[in-house]
Amino acid sequence: MEQVGDFSEQKLLLQAVFERSFEAIVIIDRALRFVEVNPSACELFGSTKEQLIGQSLADFFTSPLNLEGQDITRVKIRHSQDIIKTVEYSEVKNLFSEYNLLVFRDVTNLQRAAEAELHRQHQRVKLFSDVTLKIRQSLQLKEILHTAVTEVQRILQADRVLIYQVFANGTGMPISEAVLPDYDPILGVEFPEEVFPEEYREMYAGGRVQAIANVHDADTGLAECLVEFMDEWMVKAKLIVPILQNLKSPTDEHQSPDRLWGLLIAHQCATPRQWTNFELELMEQLADQIGIALSQGELLENLEDLVEERTTKLREVNRNLQQEIKDRLDAEAALRRSEEQLRLIANGLPVLIAYVDKHQRYRFNNEVYQTWLGLSPSKIHNCHLEKVHGEEEYQQIREYVGKALSGKTVTYETDIVLLDGCMHSLSVTYIPHFNERKKNVVRGFFALTSDISDRKAIERMKDEFISVVSHELRTPLTSIHSSLKILATGKLGNLSSKGQRMLKIADEQTERLVRLVNNVLDLQSIQSGKAKMNKTACNATDLMIEAAQTMQTMAQERGVKLFAESVNFLVWADRDYIVQTLTNLLSNAIKFSPPDSTVWLSAKRKRQRRTTVSKKSIPYITFEVKDQGQGIPTNQLESIFERFQQVDSSDSRKKGGTGLGLAICRQIIEEHDGKIWAESCVGKGSTFYFTLPAVI
Ligand code: ADP
Repeated sequence: MEQVGDFSEQKLLLQAVFERSFEAIVIIDRALRFVEVNPSACELFGSTKEQLIGQSLADFFTSPLNLEGQDITRVKIRHSQDIIKTVEYSEVKNLFSEYNLLVFRDVTNLQRAAEAELHRQHQRVKLFSDVTLKIRQSLQLKEILHTAVTEVQRILQADRVLIYQVFANGTGMPISEAVLPDYDPILGVEFPEEVFPEEYREMYAGGRVQAIANVHDADTGLAECLVEFMDEWMVKAKLIVPILQNLKSPTDEHQSPDRLWGLLIAHQCATPRQWTNFELELMEQLADQIGIALSQGELLENLEDLVEERTTKLREVNRNLQQEIKDRLDAEAALRRSEEQLRLIANGLPVLIAYVDKHQRYRFNNEVYQTWLGLSPSKIHNCHLEKVHGEEEYQQIREYVGKALSGKTVTYETDIVLLDGCMHSLSVTYIPHFNERKKNVVRGFFALTSDISDRKAIERMKDEFISVVSHELRTPLTSIHSSLKILATGKLGNLSSKGQRMLKIADEQTERLVRLVNNVLDLQSIQSGKAKMNKTACNATDLMIEAAQTMQTMAQERGVKLFAESVNFLVWADRDYIVQTLTNLLSNAIKFSPPDSTVWLSAKRKRQRRTTVSKKSIPYITFEVKDQGQGIPTNQLESIFERFQQVDSSDSRKKGGTGLGLAICRQIIEEHDGKIWAESCVGKGSTFYFTLPAVI
């Protein structure tokens, strides 16, 4: 610092500072007694200089005096009139050797102001948190808004507080209001667009707050129409704070922009009003809270909608589930009923019904197993066929089981002694059960066994009857035939030409009757197993030539050419029966051929599968008798092998047939383990085939 004046002048200067300083300056001795004080110090301590000099400074302090503390220390001192003052003091150390200089500043007012501010702030925070709490506690939008306007009106002592909602089309309307009884409510009145134009909306959307102390002040910049509108509602001053809604949902990652939801408006109607910062702040903070509450309310509403929607869906699912359960229970009951019915039927039918799985174990048996065979269905359930029926019987049925499990329906007959001790003839059918999805996979088979003893007995009686009748007919027929032959020789007298014609008819019909009786007896003896097949290795050509020679005369009579192929095969057969078969087929071929046509007789060697189980093939010879005759309709190619079946029922009379020829042929061929069948084209001719095992 530049030196001012000489020493005496400096002394004067210091003296002036000492006297005029607003700070209280005191000089104390080592015993803390006042040595010198300035006027400000007298004022601070409330005593005259004279009173202070010699007094201890410590007496004025409310707490022990500590001069070794910080540079500036704030303490409380007691004024002489018992007024407590807050002072800050600093000590100027080592200025004098005997004394200390202390400078005091009275900060009582400052302290009070700070405390008052703190208190006010505390009050505001409390007020704000009280209102916020009230708003937050309201869950319904209407309640939130009502709480907000009521609280703002109460705190601000405004004449009217309203919440104006801005609609998407730019218009809007007060939807909540707290108004003193002296003024008209504005609730539900739609504001015309001109009093709330687009630029206002943009301004508020940007968060601008408008505090207008007097709507009639020219510098407010309010549009004339708005001022008129304000007058209509007697508004003198207004405070407008935007309510912005943040649409961010808790799951959104990015902050979305705020939307102007509405305005929180306070009106003063009685007089103009200067809005304080605190009021502005309060309104702003409340508007924020409303915004947050709105978002939360919306979320809650969405959540409620969602819950409602989910509940409806769940109810629907539940209803469907209940229905499904009911349907299932109904279906199960129906299934049980139908199962019960099936069981009743299965047990009531006079047949053995079983299901055998692919491992040849019984999986189902009806109760007839118990009554016929003495086998309890529950005991044989899951048991292997061999275990149930014993090894011997199993060996007999094994082939049929194999066929059924390879996917073929198989039927066989067997004689067995049942529980009643009698021998019964049974017909057994195995029907394969295929996998529903993999159609060629067999899962097992159904076994149906019916008692055919009665049918067999009737058949036997019928056969016996036919046999007896035929035998009884044969003897008189032979003598009638011989007598007719003798008559025809004319040795017993000449007959008139009419008589000779009658004799010829009688002779032909007798011959037919003889054939019929012979055929019946033949069929009977083969079927009953009485006819023994003496099988030897026979040359196929020899068999064909012998048959052709037999039929040569008949062919010539009818003008039919007969060709027999020469082959070099040996077949395993009963010579006479096979010649009979070939003769029969040739006879038919000639019979049904027109004159000048040809009948061929031939044989071919082929291989055929022996059984589906062994899959081994054996060689066999196929004989063919082919004609160019009238042919056979396709639907009768099978039935003509049955007894007395003819394509045309008049054939027997016209062609002299018996309807038994093909039935006998089939019986003979089946006795040779062969097959017989026909192919034909109506009007073009027929071919009859039969197979015999070849001799290798
Ligand atoms: P039938 O003694 O009547 O010939 P079959 O059993 O030998 O008795 O023949 C049965 C029927 O089959 C015949 O009546 C005939 O209708 C028909 N049939 C057999 N062979 C032939 C053939 N080669 N051409 C046309 N029809 C035939």
